[in-house]
Amino acid sequence: MYEFAVTPATTQIRRRGVEVTEIAPGGLAAELELEAGDRIIKVNGRAVRDYLDFRFLTGGETEMTLFVRKKSGEEWEIEIEREEGEDFGLNFEQIVPRQCANECLFCFCKGNPPTARPALFIRDEDIRLSFLYGNYTTLTSITEDEMRRVIEQRLSPQYVSVHATDLDVRAYLLGVDKKRADISGKMRRLMDAGIEIHAQVVLCPEINDGPVLRRTISDLAAEYPRIRSVAIVPLGLTRYNTDARLTPVTPEFCRRVIREIMPVQRELREKLGTTFAFLGDEIYLRAGRRVPSRRHYGDYPQIEDGVGMVRSFYEDFNALWRRLQYRPPRRASRLNGTVLTGALFAPILKSLLDPVNERFGTRLRVLPVENRYFGSEIVVAGLMTGMDILEIREQIKGDFVIIPSAALKSDEAIMLDGMTFEDLQRQLGLPLHALDFSSFSQILSGKRELSL
Ligand code: SF4
Repeated sequence: MYEFAVTPATTQIRRRGVEVTEIAPGGLAAELELEAGDRIIKVNGRAVRDYLDFRFLTGGETEMTLFVRKKSGEEWEIEIEREEGEDFGLNFEQIVPRQCANECLFCFCKGNPPTARPALFIRDEDIRLSFLYGNYTTLTSITEDEMRRVIEQRLSPQYVSVHATDLDVRAYLLGVDKKRADISGKMRRLMDAGIEIHAQVVLCPEINDGPVLRRTISDLAAEYPRIRSVAIVPLGLTRYNTDARLTPVTPEFCRRVIREIMPVQRELREKLGTTFAFLGDEIYLRAGRRVPSRRHYGDYPQIEDGVGMVRSFYEDFNALWRRLQYRPPRRASRLNGTVLTGALFAPILKSLLDPVNERFGTRLRVLPVENRYFGSEIVVAGLMTGMDILEIREQIKGDFVIIPSAALKSDEAIMLDGMTFEDLQRQLGLPLHALDFSSFSQILSGKRELSL
């Protein structure tokens, strides 16, 4: 599930150019008297649709002409000469995502409570966000213009939700006809143009598992290294998506998938030198298995999709543990608080923090947060809500509370259920900290103080 840091496209009137939102004092743009609110319409006579276009059209150019519509309504044509590599000192409005025309059986939008914020219902399908943030697109509704843009601007890699190479199955999962579902020509065209692809399969029991999955992996692996990897992540059913065609993912199903795919992965490693087809962390954890080793993940090609996160966390934590042996945390006993995380990750985090508590006298208690907002099937930390945290407030102990920063919107301190960070902190009556691993490790190693 992904929440955008932008307003839905449906509420926006498409305007020409891209809006400048901030100017760095003393920079080139300030010298040119550009201001926040101005729109850059063209660079060297070519239309600018967003900041990616601006970056592409100005990149490497030392002389250029900008056509600008000032916020006052005036139109300026500005001739520019700049040093090689000199930055404009400009910030632009966010990209408004294009929305998809699919009706996927498992679409995350169907899993939202009806009262969820409008931003959670954005069905994005945007090759720009795929390139920038690793968001998956299905390529079913990509236009010719967008295809050309990916190739011309080298928007590589692209992240493509394939789900199944069997066309009947893909069309069924996406809720579109077979003609639209068939993206083989588009994938080939992108690959022929040197655009790298990372693929994804949302694994739905009894639909695209078993032989369909094995064929999908084998078809995609045949294109390695043009297709770099495939992430196989389990269907996530909230209590709101009750489509009878979907079968929930169970621990037994996860064990079966691991059993079936392990030999395929082994074979791929021998043949390609990479595991290529990576199972999502959730599959191992739900199966009650340990996640694979560091070697299995190589350079973690699907980490943006959360695949390999647990292994990467283990690695980072072990490195921290080694550092702590040489330089024990200062005033460790002051670290007396509760660390909240999702039900699936809580036992792992506890197994890592218990030895720290024992060895250094810290008192960090790990508390799993059951997800009542989306339903107990949802066990990942990033989907934790404020309401769920308040449900377990009686169990919270110590002087502070830590939540994963991933549980907050990327550009605003707000949780998925709309509860703000401040509100949650006020209701908990304790200092609250949203931390990623790096800030957490700085606190543990005493490089950063936790304000209490
Ligand atoms: S592609 Fe499918 S899952 Fe993604 S937003 Fe569209 S309907 Fe939902």
